Amino acid sequence: MSSNNIILDDIPLFIKNDCSFNNLFTQKSCNVSVIWCVYDIKRKIIVAKGSSRPCGFNHTKSSIHAEEQAIQYCRGNAKRNHRIFIWRYSKEGSIKPKYCCTLCTMIANKYNLQTKIFTFQNNGICPAIIDDPPLSLANLMK
Ligand SMILES: [Zn+2]
Repeated sequence: MSSNNIILDDIPLFIKNDCSFNNLFTQKSCNVSVIWCVYDIKRKIIVAKGSSRPCGFNHTKSSIHAEEQAIQYCRGNAKRNHRIFIWRYSKEGSIKPKYCCTLCTMIANKYNLQTKIFTFQNNGICPAIIDDPPLSLANLMK
């Protein structure tokens, strides 16, 4: 079955602009790729989006995490009304929460974005920065 047949869960945000995440989803890599977007809470639009991609066979080189990409975006375009959201999709297209790893938590703190990063859980919004962050895959392999 092709990814095109999967209907992705809507993220629980009111979005005024036309924004689809279908092009960021593949069934093959959804277990490892994390979707991110930057949402403007005043204008209620998605201003940027992307996904982290697994690095293929070169396992020693870690990929740039989704939240890291989003933080990079927000650093250059710092706006008070911007919030970062990160999440994953299951193979069936349902939303799964994704929490920042230890490294990304450090980066978020460094740029003072630690209160602006969220994920989705049970059709709601919750902070993606948690007290006991999971180690990233790259950390585990060191
Ligand atoms: Zn991370």
